Amino acid sequence: MAIATINPATGETLKTFEPLNDAEIAAKLDLAGQAFEQYRKTNFQKRSHWLSKAAEILEQEKADFAKVMTLEMGKPFKAAVSEVEKCAFVCRYYAEHAAEFLADVTVNTDANHSFVRYQPLGVILAVMPWNFPFWQVFRFAAPALMAGNVGLLKHASNVPQCALAIEDIFQRAGFPQGVFQTLLIGAAKVADLMADDRVKAATLTGSEPAGASLAAAAGKQLKKTVLELGGSDPFIVLASADLEAAVVTATTARMLNNGQSCIAAKRFIVAEAIADKFEKLLLEKFKALKIGDPMEPDTDLGPLATPGILEDLDQQVQVAVKSGGKVLTGGHSLANHPGNFYPPTIIIDIPPDTPIAQEEFFGPVALLFRVPDIDAAIKLANATPFGLGASAWTTNDQERDRLVEEIEAGAVFINGMVKSDPRLPFGGIKRSGYGRELSIQGIHEFVNVKTVWVK
Ligand code: NAP
Repeated sequence: MAIATINPATGETLKTFEPLNDAEIAAKLDLAGQAFEQYRKTNFQKRSHWLSKAAEILEQEKADFAKVMTLEMGKPFKAAVSEVEKCAFVCRYYAEHAAEFLADVTVNTDANHSFVRYQPLGVILAVMPWNFPFWQVFRFAAPALMAGNVGLLKHASNVPQCALAIEDIFQRAGFPQGVFQTLLIGAAKVADLMADDRVKAATLTGSEPAGASLAAAAGKQLKKTVLELGGSDPFIVLASADLEAAVVTATTARMLNNGQSCIAAKRFIVAEAIADKFEKLLLEKFKALKIGDPMEPDTDLGPLATPGILEDLDQQVQVAVKSGGKVLTGGHSLANHPGNFYPPTIIIDIPPDTPIAQEEFFGPVALLFRVPDIDAAIKLANATPFGLGASAWTTNDQERDRLVEEIEAGAVFINGMVKSDPRLPFGGIKRSGYGRELSIQGIHEFVNVKTVWVK
């Protein structure tokens, strides 16, 4: 894929970038390796100062950063502004808490003094996706840099200006040269990077094939990885639920980021007793959404990020229809419309056991299933290779406890939509990946847990 800014709302190529050549990549690896030797000796206070400065820059220039995001991948501008604010939040969170999260932990043994010490691993490669082009990077970088690691970013090829802006933020914040670098390179270079001695570990947020490929390359070198991959999150609505609230949240949870979120609600599993009502209300909400220029403040739904994503989504919808699904609204890309726009779409009556029912739909398409009871709801929720998040709606305590216990996912949100929060761990099970980001767990992924025993 060419490294370029192509406006998804118009299809216009705004800027192209020459990928780094091998000598340039080697120079950046050298710099990263040298930077680590010095940076690992800095204390939490210094790192915290720089990261707080990064938060300040994000807040002061949020409109500029948001504009770059919208221009490169099409998310509504107002959502892009919130994303930048959230990046500032995660920087402040780790600036404030890293020292406490990584403090020595004394353990009583037969030694005079034994304890656990957390130390940085070194240069960490981050392979990141375009859908939250700032957030995904900051949620990796804030804990990784606070732990004393050095970051190398290989961002998605369609968001190069975001990638460069992020590197610039860390430099202006005062981090020493080489502590955070962007590599403008294609995916084909990632395996070579994993084979380089200077790279100690990697994290990838993206699709299953990309995750599997990175993990295979890392496995050959026995290097640690964290993988945040796709999802087909269920949104369960049981008969006792607050229906109005569930429908409003269902719409947001599906349409967030033009439908391109790993934790978007993708399969709506609704109790038969309230299904007619839910379906009617959801249809009303979807039809009321305003599609258009993502820079406009009243736009609810902008374009998909690339023509390829649009084609894949349209193809999946056609397969769903061939498999028995019925389209209630939407169902075709907008004819004669520039840009990668796809309308809000609801599909009902898909047989739950057809292969398409288990796929991730990465766009504004809701699959609606009816179930007789909570047993069937949980069974269907778990009938997917993914296990990222789940949202479930009920006012019954026993039902709530069963949903929390029995749903196979990295997160269960009751009466709310699945979201990431710096204070809570984030990650999946099954084919959604492994490892955790954010919270105290996230900062422990890329550290050497050193056992110290002194007599
Ligand atoms: P993608 O194609 O996998 O791209 C993600 C990143 O991986 C890009 O930087 C891409 O580089 C790189 N990449 C692609 N193939 C690779 C390979 N074989 N080896 C190494 N790197 C490779 O994913 P996407 O389509 O942009 O993103 C959508 C997917 O990400 C969805 O499945 C979504 O659910 C998932 N996602 C998960 C999370 C989470 O936290 N769990 C968050 C956001 C998105 P190029 O751009 O140069 O190809």
